[in-house]
Amino acid sequence: MREINVAEITENISDMCIEINHRLSDDMEKALYDALEKEESSTGKQVLSQLKKNLEIASEEMIPICQDTGMAIVFLEIGQDVHFIGGDLTDAVNNGVRRGYTEGYLRKSVVSDPILRENTKDNTPAVIHEKIVHGDGVKITLAPKGFGSENMSKLYMLKPSQGLEGVKKAILKAVKDAGPNACPPIVVGVGIGGDFEKCALIAKEALTREAGTHSNIAWVKELETEMLETINDLGIGPAGLGGKVTAMAVNINTYPTHIAGLPVAVNICCHVNRHITRCL
Ligand code: SF4
Repeated sequence: MREINVAEITENISDMCIEINHRLSDDMEKALYDALEKEESSTGKQVLSQLKKNLEIASEEMIPICQDTGMAIVFLEIGQDVHFIGGDLTDAVNNGVRRGYTEGYLRKSVVSDPILRENTKDNTPAVIHEKIVHGDGVKITLAPKGFGSENMSKLYMLKPSQGLEGVKKAILKAVKDAGPNACPPIVVGVGIGGDFEKCALIAKEALTREAGTHSNIAWVKELETEMLETINDLGIGPAGLGGKVTAMAVNINTYPTHIAGLPVAVNICCHVNRHITRCL
């Protein structure tokens, strides 16, 4: 059994909120620079050059990459041999978000009630997903999510008979419907299988996988490659102004499902696909 003081969780999450809102992870930075190389349309190239410049200014001058600094999504992988001390784990996560967003002067975008809509003024609560795993460590992944792209995400409860073709149509429909509203070039996180909520969760997790990597399941890897090509043939392009690069990556996760179902979730993220991981 290893003891971890929850103060460590707070401190790390606070730092991570500030870091990832000013500097994208290496994979996303590379994906954006590669997009600039690949783009053929002159308007598309111009948009991507501006996004590149924006990234440089953000990290050099400590200005957030985007005005929408997102709702804090926190994935915790907790070793079953960990014993937390020093307080409540959920409070520790939210204290980290509160501190990071306040001390980092990041926009507070969370309302306490979805209908009454009063801003909580500190960007809490976070959305927290916990998973118990082997070992005595804790892996924290923080993915602040902008809602321009979150609002364009979709969940489909397909019939098994719709099969792989149905899955492809569902992914393509979500991306087409999103059009320019998801702030392209986008990253498409897809969940296939599970039930209603598991499907959405694995789609969101897929967004945190390094852009440019593939599933180790052969048919899924093939689907990722094919969908990226098909999406980029749509011509939506950077900022939706036309071009070759609509998506920088399609990341797909799968999970076993029921004999009567084929859930598909498409969680879209904009070009500011923020994700950062630390292990304690
Ligand atoms: S969707 Fe992304 S790029 Fe667009 S406003 Fe929101 S965070 Fe910014």
